[in-house]
Amino acid sequence: MRVWSVGIVGGGPGGLMTAYALQKTADRPLRVTLFEASQRLGGKIITSSFRNSNIRYEAGAAEFYDYSQFDEDPLKSLIKELGLPINSMAGSAVIMNNRVLSSIDDVQEHLGPDACRKLLAFDRRARDRMTPQEFYNSDYPDGSMRQSDEHSFAALLDEVSNPKVKAYIETLIHSDLATEPEQTSADYGLQNYLMNHSSYMSLYSIEGGNERLPRELSSRLDATIQLNHIVQRVSKTKEDRLQVTSIHDGQTRQDEFDFVVIALPHNQLPTVAFAGERLAEAVASHYAYYNYPAHYLRVTILFDEPFWKSSLTDSFWMLDRFGGCCLYDESSREPGASGGVLGWLLGGNAALELSQLHDKQLLNLALDSLPDFLANGRNHFVEGHVHRWIASVNAMPGGIVPLSHDRRHQPEPIKHPNLFMVGDYLFDSTLNGVLDSANYVAAWIAGQMTDNSKDTV
Ligand SMILES: Cc1cc2nc3c(=O)[nH]c(=O)nc-3n(C[C@H](O)[C@H](O)[C@H](O)COP(=O)(O)OP(=O)(O)OC[C@H]3O[C@@H](n4cnc5c(N)ncnc54)[C@H](O)[C@@H]3O)c2cc1C
Repeated sequence: MRVWSVGIVGGGPGGLMTAYALQKTADRPLRVTLFEASQRLGGKIITSSFRNSNIRYEAGAAEFYDYSQFDEDPLKSLIKELGLPINSMAGSAVIMNNRVLSSIDDVQEHLGPDACRKLLAFDRRARDRMTPQEFYNSDYPDGSMRQSDEHSFAALLDEVSNPKVKAYIETLIHSDLATEPEQTSADYGLQNYLMNHSSYMSLYSIEGGNERLPRELSSRLDATIQLNHIVQRVSKTKEDRLQVTSIHDGQTRQDEFDFVVIALPHNQLPTVAFAGERLAEAVASHYAYYNYPAHYLRVTILFDEPFWKSSLTDSFWMLDRFGGCCLYDESSREPGASGGVLGWLLGGNAALELSQLHDKQLLNLALDSLPDFLANGRNHFVEGHVHRWIASVNAMPGGIVPLSHDRRHQPEPIKHPNLFMVGDYLFDSTLNGVLDSANYVAAWIAGQMTDNSKDTV
């Protein structure tokens, strides 16, 4: 029986999930080769640690979104299937003007009755516009038939007449958006607002570190994993197969495949040359369609004690510094750990502009940003790390008008029907999205193998 070959470019979650799903779905013999440019698998899921402590922290993706209360949740099912234990995460407070606002009563007390009314009105409008079920289905499985809303999220925010409420909402969602309200759509802004409601979704992380997910996936793969292989070019052969050119240890190598999956984040697509005018143009237009870069910057600090615990107990809070940032209690992922770890997740313009600074300056800025009631935290500093993630996520995932799933995943269907794209930027910029993308492509390729095998019998 014919053995089909599949080349996967990128050893992040997208590439690993594609390989794993293919292995499970294909009913034909299969040979998978995965090329990863760096020396590790996992891409932007990175669980790191400090020199002076064994407390772990998330340097990239921090949490998983849980939709299981509505319907199928492929990511949660996958994590369960891999036997990985999870911990729920919670945080509902916004810290504004050095006050912790945890409830609508706190908003009333600290921002005033008018702010309270306006916030409730905005909230009601947001929920009316998108129900939890609509939120769950927001990736329009068959392409959008809905009139797309051309307004930016900024236009929607401008309708909020109370400046304190506007600032509250901006602080609440800025780090999830990773961009500015004028650079994203009304729908994507609203989704990022609504995900703070437990009726829309909940959050969890993997006990022992999120990086256990890519590790577990790779340990179950029956694939040739080529680490330190930087893919430079993809071209078509005379026999209509695809050739992948990569560089390893300064040496060029070429491999041919029946199918190739490009599982690269949007900002890495231009690092690969796609040969031939037709394919080059198609990939360039695919890239342009999703070209809405968004930015993150993480500052993570180890303290000799969790000095915030007497005033703050959740897993994270939103802080009105850096245009709105998320402050994680990273140590809350490891109950009983000695010492404490706080992580600042900056997004959008603040992340982009401040990424130019040295680590030391950024550590100081993070310490300076602590609210007044935690200002003594500086005295507990032990060690800090900075991770820059510029243009690494998408400000308008799915593009302005979502395309059909086939269109999203196949840049040039006519002459290159065996070349596929997998990415979170095709859905919602999250791990849930990249898994949906990987599963879609894996099922497609498996189906083609079956159909093409019948043709050749
Ligand atoms: C700071 C931050 C926080 C985030 N938080 C969350 C979160 O809380 N929840 C969530 O769901 N999502 C989150 N995300 C998004 C999540 O990380 C992505 O959805 C996910 O990593 C996408 O996986 P990927 O495989 O497409 O890309 P990546 O994770 O970027 O992996 C791509 C891989 O391809 C490799 N590569 C690049 N170029 C080449 C080449 N030429 N040849 C071979 N290999 C190559 C890279 O080295 C990398 O290993 C966050 C992202 C960031 C940056």
